[in-house]
This record gives sequence, structure tokens and C-alpha cells, in this order.
Amino acid sequence: TASWSSVPLAPPDSIFKLSAAYKADDYPQKVNLGVGAYRDDNNKPWVLPVVKKATGLLLNDPSLDHEYLPITGLPEFTSAAAKLILGAESAAIREGRTVSVQTISGTGANHLGALFLSRFYNWNGPKQIYLSDPTWANHYAIFKNVGIEPINYPYYDAKTIGLNFNGFLSSLDSAPEGSVFLLHACAHNPTGVDPTSEQWEKLADAIMKRNHFAFFDCAYQGFASGDLDRDASAVRYFEQRGVPMLVCQSFAKNAGLYGERVGCLHVVGATKDAADRVKSQLSVLQRSEISNPPSHGARLVSLILTDASLFEEWKRDIQTMAQRIISMRKELHRLLTEELHTPGNWDHIVNQIGMFSFTGINPAQCEELVKGAHVYLTGNGRISMAGLNTHNIRYFAESLDKVVR
Ligand code: PLP
Repeated sequence: TASWSSVPLAPPDSIFKLSAAYKADDYPQKVNLGVGAYRDDNNKPWVLPVVKKATGLLLNDPSLDHEYLPITGLPEFTSAAAKLILGAESAAIREGRTVSVQTISGTGANHLGALFLSRFYNWNGPKQIYLSDPTWANHYAIFKNVGIEPINYPYYDAKTIGLNFNGFLSSLDSAPEGSVFLLHACAHNPTGVDPTSEQWEKLADAIMKRNHFAFFDCAYQGFASGDLDRDASAVRYFEQRGVPMLVCQSFAKNAGLYGERVGCLHVVGATKDAADRVKSQLSVLQRSEISNPPSHGARLVSLILTDASLFEEWKRDIQTMAQRIISMRKELHRLLTEELHTPGNWDHIVNQIGMFSFTGINPAQCEELVKGAHVYLTGNGRISMAGLNTHNIRYFAESLDKVVR
């Protein structure tokens, strides 16, 4: 009935729960390594200087109003976003085979892509998607919501704290023909473990051989290595090989626009005619869900992507973020191996890439860090490198050292 007496209480989201516990803690040396958002060396959110500049330009543009955007989004934004991820020289773009739809950040792109597949993918059997084990926890909920059952493929190898490449390959080989595989384009969340370019080539071979579909999720382009092109290389390689695919793109991390919800879904079709039909159906789906996407963030990103000097400035801002994270990896590695002589091998800290690092510590050690040292991290041993800075890294290294001894 409408008293909602039978509605079960859902558990709070584990990441947001962790943040709340961190906030409530008044220990002066507390450290938050849970949340996946960039922080500067003073643990403060960072508004990119290029975003400030673009915001000023928009504010002073008398031609802007608050009318609805088209259902599929701001055209200048979606076409520039497609070039950013697929490459300006992409054949799929040149031949008009790419459909790009503006979405509510990366989450919305995942959702719209999932909804579209649920309705229109040529399913041979049950609707299933292969997700890496482990993956971003929200992937499970997003696919279940549209009636696609998530199943796992082997990805992370706890023994090497690296990629279980053979497990991954053999699951591509043994999955039914035409299966859908979700691939993290770069900076795998939560492990920070990515395939090498040689491994991507073999993965593409296996996918082509079995007629699988690649569902790329790209939430960290540029943020991972500091280089937008390098971080797009797997996606671009797959496109060149002609792998059937779609790409979910987020500007939350690389432009620091978390709350503005700027994203895009790109579906690559075999022909322009197919792309036109896909676009018509994506418009129908988008209309029933959000009618029209929001304009402000898309205008900001569109300006940054299409103005040569803003684009250069953005690349420098991305470098600032990526290099700070990479320097934290090096310093943590140095403290553990050279100063503290912490037992075990810590090379994965510098070999992993992006916002996150899988430390390899167990749930009990994680709990000890939270309870004993006021260091907040998820129970799987994942740490957000962005939560480390020159002021707290020694404290963290010493705390980690204590729990693994
Ligand atoms: N996909 C992955 C793998 C992510 O890690 C994230 C963010 O944490 C997202 C998608 C989507 O983020 P947003 O909706 O903020 O763009």
C-alpha cells in the first residue's frame, strides 16, 4: 500500500558510507582513500584553470540562453567528444558510421548503452554481459536494471597483483559466439591494472574470432597516463580493427566536472545507414528517460575541445593531475621499499595506472587501517591515489607497514 510499509531498507552505498565515516572522524591525521575524485596536494577539490576560463567565457556570451538542447545533445559537443576518443582520423567518424549521444556523465552513458543493447542487440541466448572480476560496482546494478544479467570474466590475479591474461583470453574463447564484453578502456577501476598494447591486440583477435561485442567504458581518458591519445589507444585500435563496439565516455575526472554530469555514448556501426537507424532509436530511448541532456557542462567541454588554446591548456591541467598521482605512486613505493623495508613486493604500486591502486592487502588489514589508523579505504584493499599528498603519505606508508607486518 501507499504507506510503503513493505519497502525493505536498502543498505547505503559503501563508498558514500565510507566518506560519511571519514567526515565524522575528528582524528587530525585521518586519511580518506575511498572516494574516486581528484584532490590537490592540500586534499582540496581542484577546479581546473581551463574550466574557470571557459566558465568566464560562457558567462560573458550574450548569445546563450536556457532553451532545451536537442534530444541527443549539443552537436558541437558530441562531435568533438567523438573525435577525442576515437581520434580525429577515425574512419568510423569520417564515414558517418558513428552515433554520438550526450548522456548524464559516464553512468548515464553506461545506462543508455545497456538499455539500447537490451532492446536491440542480436541476442543469441539469454541477455548477459561479461564484466571483469572485479569491476566498478555500479556496473552490476546498471545492467540488472535493464534486464541484462552480469556475469564475470577472470581479470585480476591476486597472486601477481596483476592481470590474469590467460584467464581473460580463455573466457573470450569459451563464451558463446556474439557475447557482450565490458572492457575498461584505461585505468581499470578498481585494480589500476590494464592490458599492455600487445595484450590488447590478442584480445581484439579473440573478440573478432568469436564475433563478440566490445562495450567500452572510458571514465579516465588522459587522467591515467597524462596523455589523451595514449589512454584512448585501446579504443582506437579496436575501432581500426573493425570490432563491433560502443564507448561510454565521461568528463567527470579528466575535466574535474563531476557534478556537471558531462558524458557521451558513441555507438560505432557497420554502415552510415545502420548508424542513422541506431541514432533514431537512441533518441526515442533518451526522450523517455531525460527528454534532453543538460547544457552547461556540455558547453564548457565543447569550448575546451574546439578552441585550440583552451585545448592546449586543458592538456596541461590533465598533466598536472596525472603527474601528481604518478609522483604519489613513486613516493609510496620508495617509502615502503627503501625506507620502511615493508615485507613483500610493492612494484604493483608503480606499475598500476590511474586513480586507483589495488594494494593487495586483505579485508582484515583494511579494517585495521580504518579502525586503528583512521585511514579510510574499501574492504577490497583499493586506495584512491588522489587521497595521498606530500603531507599524509608518510603517515599512510607507516600505517600500511604496520598492518602488513
Ligand atoms: N565507469 C567507471 C569505471 C568509473 O570508475 C566511473 C566513475 O567512478 C564511471 C564509469 C562513471 O562516473 P560518472 O558517472 O561520474 O562519469
